[in-house]
Amino acid sequence: MIQYRKIAVPCTSCRYCTPHCPMELDIPFLLRAYNEAKVGGEWRLNSLSALPEVKMPGNCIGCGACTEHCPQSFDIPGYLRELREMLDKIRTAAEQ
Ligand code: SF4
Ligand code: SF4
Repeated sequence: MIQYRKIAVPCTSCRYCTPHCPMELDIPFLLRAYNEAKVGGEWRLNSLSALPEVKMPGNCIGCGACTEHCPQSFDIPGYLRELREMLDKIRTAAEQ
């Protein structure tokens, strides 16, 4: 079970990480969604529903290439894992 972090991630959207993602994920966009969920509540993740499935955080393979190129060395795969868990929780709740 993942321990959720309590604070938002101060990503500057510099996009140094994105060319290195083999899954072509829009990392700053996903981190912004993560932050909105942290600050405003998980219901705000509904904004991700317009994303194609291949762009969802669950497609992160945890390679760490993004973190290597992030000036702030964020644990991006860790944040995306948390984001995926939050989304799974919302989906499960919607199905009940
Ligand atoms: S860890 Fe995930 S987000 Fe980062 S480069 Fe690899 S696949 Fe992309
Ligand atoms: S390199 Fe780091 S700060 Fe820049 S967009 Fe990517 S995650 Fe955000």
